[in-house]
This record gives sequence, structure tokens and C-alpha cells, in this order.
Amino acid sequence: MTYVKEMAIPQNENEIQKLEFQNYLECLGFESQSFSPTISKIDPTISIQNPPVSEAWSTLSAQVDSCQKCPLHLERKRPVFGSGSQTAQILFVSEAPTQSEEDSQSVLNAASAELFEKMIKAMNLNSTSVYMTHAAKCRPPHNRHPEAAELENCSEHLIAQAVLLQPRLVVALGSIAAKALIDPQFDFDRHRGNFYPLWASKTANPLKSCLVLPTFHPAYLIRNPDAKRLAWEDLKKVIAHLK
Ligand code: SF4
Repeated sequence: MTYVKEMAIPQNENEIQKLEFQNYLECLGFESQSFSPTISKIDPTISIQNPPVSEAWSTLSAQVDSCQKCPLHLERKRPVFGSGSQTAQILFVSEAPTQSEEDSQSVLNAASAELFEKMIKAMNLNSTSVYMTHAAKCRPPHNRHPEAAELENCSEHLIAQAVLLQPRLVVALGSIAAKALIDPQFDFDRHRGNFYPLWASKTANPLKSCLVLPTFHPAYLIRNPDAKRLAWEDLKKVIAHLK
């Protein structure tokens, strides 16, 4: 399999030990733990608040709004472009808008967004210091998953967003996003939580040096709270990578 080229995982255990593990667990609804690390703040330059909206982002947003490149345009009300800081160092990518996400023009529904805020708060980030988008911008009918061809069609927009953003790391939220960002054959259950080259299978890839880490989607964590500890292990790698 060509995609299973795990990248060296940056590790700094001393730093990781200082993170807000207890805070994370409490945020996610676990009991307080005896673990009591010294809190270490992430580099504050990660967050650059309220950047001006650039012309390039506006142009791209307008292109997505009018896109009819795949059949998903037939039943959508409006594509969901994405949100967050246009100078963020982390790009979070979900799969495709659900009905409620299309209605609210949000990348995550209310329950998932609430959990996601808690997750990134434990990383000393917030929703304005990251950028979020979907791999496919239009809602598939009946809330089905987007098909491989639809993801491939829409990758043009996602690549354009990533080129504008120039993130230091991309985080794929869930299996479908991981397939869109790493390889259509990516086995999420076996290979989640490691670093992979972004769009390894694409020959024309303007972000060859960027890495992607696949982890659980917040909606999955709501349905499967036991996986929150595994998600935290993944997020610790994200934090270490940005040190
Ligand atoms: S899903 Fe993407 S490629 Fe397909 S119509 Fe919507 S914006 Fe265009």
C-alpha cells in the first residue's frame, strides 16, 4: 500500500507531560485524575486573531459558492466553505456538511462543535486560532457519506484553501476526511493517530512537505466516549508537532 508511509512522529515527552491532561479529561466529562502536570502554554503565535479577509479567500469562497463540478450541487442549498483564522497553523478537515451543518453554514453541528471547542481548549487553542473546513463542500443527499469521485472533484477547493492557509499541520477528523487527505484506500481503524504525507497519491501536490494526522471526528467521540482517551493521545502528537 503506497499511503502507509508513516512519518517520523515528533515526540518531546517532557513537554507533553506538562500539558493539561487533567483539564482535557474534565472538559470531556471524565472524573478528575491524580495526574497533575505543570501547565505549559502553546506558542501564542499559533493564534493570530481577526486577520483581514484577503481578496484571494473571497474569490475562492465565491468560486465554491457557484461550483457545479459534481452532482452534489444538485441537492445542496449552499456549500459550506469553512471558518476560522486565515493564518491558522492547524487545518482541521471534516468530511461533508450534514443537513444541520448546511442549515447553519457550520463545519460542525452544535453538539460536535461544543466538544471540539473543549478539545482544542485543552490544547490552548480556540476556534478562531484554527481553520476548519469539509473535504466536500456540499451536503450529500440523505446525509450519506461523499463518494470517492465527489471527494476527488472537491479536492481542488480544499487544495486551494490549504495553499492559501499554508498550515503547519492538517488534522483529518474521521475516516472519510482521512481518505480524502491521505489516500482513498486509507485504513482509518488500523492507522489512525500517525503522521502521513498530505495527498500522497496526488502527482500535482503543492503542499508536499505538509503532514496530516487522522483522528476521531467529534461526532464519533460523542457516540463512543471511551475513544476520547485515544483522541487525546493523537492531540498530544499535534501539540508536540507544533512546538
Ligand atoms: S461538492 Fe465540491 S466539487 Fe462538488 S459541487 Fe460542491 S463545491 Fe463543487
